[in-house]
Formats: sequence, structure tokens, C-alpha cells
Amino acid sequence: MSEFTVIDPATARPITTLQRAEVADVDAAVARAVAAQRGWAALAPGARADALRAFARVVEEHVEELAQLEVRNSGHPVGSARWEAGHVAQVLNYYSGAPERLMGAQIPVPGGLDVTFHEPYGVVGIIVPWNFPMTIASWGFAPALAAGNAVVLKPAELTPLTAVRLGELALEAGLPEGLFQVVVGSGTVVGQRFVSHPDVRKVVFTGSTEVGVSVAAGCAQLLKPVTLELGGKSANVVFEDADLVAAAAAVPGSVFDNAGQDCCARSRLLVQRSVYDRFLELLEPAVRDWRVGDPASEATDMGPLISAGHRDSVAAYLDGVDVAFRGSAPTGDGFWFAPAVVLAEPGDRVAREEIFGPVVAVLPFDDEADAIRLANDTVYGLAGSIWTENLGRAVRVSRAVKSGVLSVNSHSSVRYWTPFGGMKASGLGRELGPDAAEHFTETKNVFFATDRA
Ligand code: NAP
Ligand code: MG
Repeated sequence: MSEFTVIDPATARPITTLQRAEVADVDAAVARAVAAQRGWAALAPGARADALRAFARVVEEHVEELAQLEVRNSGHPVGSARWEAGHVAQVLNYYSGAPERLMGAQIPVPGGLDVTFHEPYGVVGIIVPWNFPMTIASWGFAPALAAGNAVVLKPAELTPLTAVRLGELALEAGLPEGLFQVVVGSGTVVGQRFVSHPDVRKVVFTGSTEVGVSVAAGCAQLLKPVTLELGGKSANVVFEDADLVAAAAAVPGSVFDNAGQDCCARSRLLVQRSVYDRFLELLEPAVRDWRVGDPASEATDMGPLISAGHRDSVAAYLDGVDVAFRGSAPTGDGFWFAPAVVLAEPGDRVAREEIFGPVVAVLPFDDEADAIRLANDTVYGLAGSIWTENLGRAVRVSRAVKSGVLSVNSHSSVRYWTPFGGMKASGLGRELGPDAAEHFTETKNVFFATDRA
């Protein structure tokens, strides 16, 4: 096993060192998961529901601890980190309702009775990125467990600490040994082994489109189903008839939240040409007032970027572009980056590529058709927002934009009880919402003959 160091992105100082799992460790974890899953799936649905509710309660009791870990490991502002930890408990509570509701169908057939069952896959492998370590993990493990599966979870090496703690809390809550295991290690070793291991029967991957495509290709070799939550370049479309003051005030949160390291970041701001200048005037003070600083402070809106390497990659997007204005950022050893508003053309790199940092590309459009064309002028299709006071336009545009998660006069994307996921290069399949537990099952159809000679 090799060792690696976990870094606090706000100070660039080490927090702790952990061991990387090797293939043999993954195989041992999967073997334990296979054994645990048999007993778990055999439990009465109500007993599985109770066990998940107990897990939710223990997470609730540790919200502050988990939040503080995320502040240190990920640099998330403490208010956001508390929300994220509380969200994990809510997701567990929501899917604890699923075991007793995984209802099949009874289909009319001649000569007998036909019934469908939702059978768990067995062991599910979940690979998560560093941007929202806890919440994204829970979107996989809570419904997967609820449906009767065991879970092996690989956090990103940059941000493993809350996942490791959640694995301990599951045991504290009384979940059986081996049912929910967190395996720390690199993507190319641990993540890749989830893909190639024959006993991992489904993979959930959240991360970059490039790695997601390779994960899907690997899963195809074993005909293994895969859910992919990938990148985005979402549009925030502001029409001339919008409440411009409210729309401008909402922009920083829509793209600079989590320092822009959000797959749903509205990183393209499309503004109708007739109100373009006025809108930029309204936007400037909102960006200036966006508070970038110590994530441990309650007053902070945005912390640092996740790593020095990532900061270099974000900064490179500002080379040679037309920066309209920037917010502020602390100096010091953390991976700080001041938010930037860039005036762009549709073909510019800054308007096309996912930057995953606090950079927004502003582009003007002429009319509704132009807005739709520009919004769809991307390989991605994850999220997006439409600002207008015209109801018909809101309906037309929201139906025409090819994205999985849209909001009108708001930037909300994530509610655990509504479906989440992307179109085009943003992904495959959906997480959250009322159907997520079913996505961790295979349908079995059984015909019982009743007309026997
Ligand atoms: P990434 O490089 O794709 O990594 C994501 C996860 O996959 C990490 O745990 C990584 O492990 C692992 N991994 C890397 N190579 C692998 C391989 N060959 N096989 C299996 N697993 C592998 O992405 P990232 O740099 O962490 O995160 C940023 C990207 O994620 C952005 O593009 C962002 O849009 C996307 N994202 C999408 C969503 C969504 O819901 N759609 C949410 C969050 C992030 P290690 O890094 O530990 O080696
Ligand atoms: Mg990576």
C-alpha cells in the first residue's frame, strides 16, 4: 500500500495521511460485500427501512463533525458544509421509505398469474469526485442500499475524509459489516477495479466526461449497467422581460457557489442584447459583494479551489480573454482565485469548455430563437436557468433547452425528491427522485400457471 497526504485547500497544509488500497484490497472488500448483501436482501423490507433510518439518525447526530471535516478537506464554507451533511441524512431518510415501496406489477395474462419483482443487483460500486464528496456519495449509496444492494464506495483521493467517516457511522448505526464499505485509493486502481470486477454488478460514476466514457466502455465489456453524472456548461438565460435586479443578484450564487466547482454551475450567462449593458451594471456590485475567504467563517460565500493544479488550470482560461470585472480573494497559501466575469463569443474556449472554477462567460443574444440556439450550442446538457416574466416563453424555452435539470427564475438544481442528471455529454441515467431505488434493481418477471391439466 502506498501513502498519500490529504491537504487543506484553504492553507495548503497537510491534514493527514492515508493508505491507498490496491487491487487485492478491493477484491477483499467486494468479497465481504457479496457476503453481506445476501443477508441484507433477505431481511424483511421493514427491517432494512429501520436500519437506514438508524443510519440517517447517526448522520444527523454528526452533522457538525462531518461539516467541519468538509470545511478542512474541501474548503467548503461552513454553512454549505452543514447543508451537505444534513442533506446526506435527508437522502437516507427519504430512501428508507423505499424498501417497503419497491412494488412490482401484476400483469393480466391468460392461464395464470404474472408478477414482476425488483431484484437488487448485488454489489454496487460508486465512484465520486472531489467537488461534493458527501452529497454525491449519498445519492448513490442510499437508494442502492434501500433496494437491497451492498455498496463499495470510492471517494476522490483529494477529498476522502467525510466518506471514510460515513463508513464508520454506518457501522455505528448498526449496518452489517461489509454492507457499506469505503475504499480509499486512486481512480485508476480502485475505480478501475470496480469496473472490471465481475461481482460488482452496477457502477455509478460521477466525474469528468472523459473518465466517464472510459468507465462506460469498461462496463460494456461485462454488460454492466452504469449511471454517469458528468460535466456541464450550463446556460443562465436572461430575457429582457425578466426581473433584472433579482436575476443579477442571483448570478454569483449560480456560478461561483463552491468556487464554481459544481457540475451544475451556470457558467454561460446569456443576456438579451437590449438589456445587456444594464445587466452588467447590475451584476458588477453583486460580484464585488460575493465574499471569498476563510471557509470556517459563517460570513463566507466561497472558499478556495481544491488544489494548486486545479487553480493553474482555471487561471489558464483567463489568458487573453476580455475580463469585464472580478471579485476579490484572499492572498496567502490557500488555492484562492477571485471570481471573474468574462465577455465572450460563442466559439471561445471560455464559452465552450467546462472550467470548473469561478469564471462566467457572458454572451449576448437577440431573440428567443437565438437564446435557445445558443443555450443548446454545447456538447453538455446538465442544468440551466431561464429568467423571464413571460409564462409562455418560460414553458417554450424550458422545453426547448436540451438539459436534464432546468429552473425558471431560480437556479435550484438539487432536491433529493426530484430527478437529477444530464443529457448529451453530461451523463446517462438519473439519480435522486422517487425512482432512484428502482434504478438499483433488475426487473424479474414470473409467470405462475394456474390452468393445469
Ligand atoms: P475525474 O477525474 O473524472 O474523477 C472522478 C472520480 O473518478 C474520482 O474518484 C477519480 O479518482 C475517479 N477516476 C479517475 N480515473 C478513473 C478511472 N480510469 N477509472 C475509474 N475511476 C477513475 O473528475 P474530477 O477531476 O474528480 O472532478 C471534476 C469533474 O467531475 C468535472 O468535469 C465535473 O463536471 C464532474 N462532475 C460532475 C457531476 C455531476 O453530477 N454531473 C458532479 C460532480 C463533478 P481519483 O481522482 O481519486 O484518482
Ligand atoms: Mg481527475
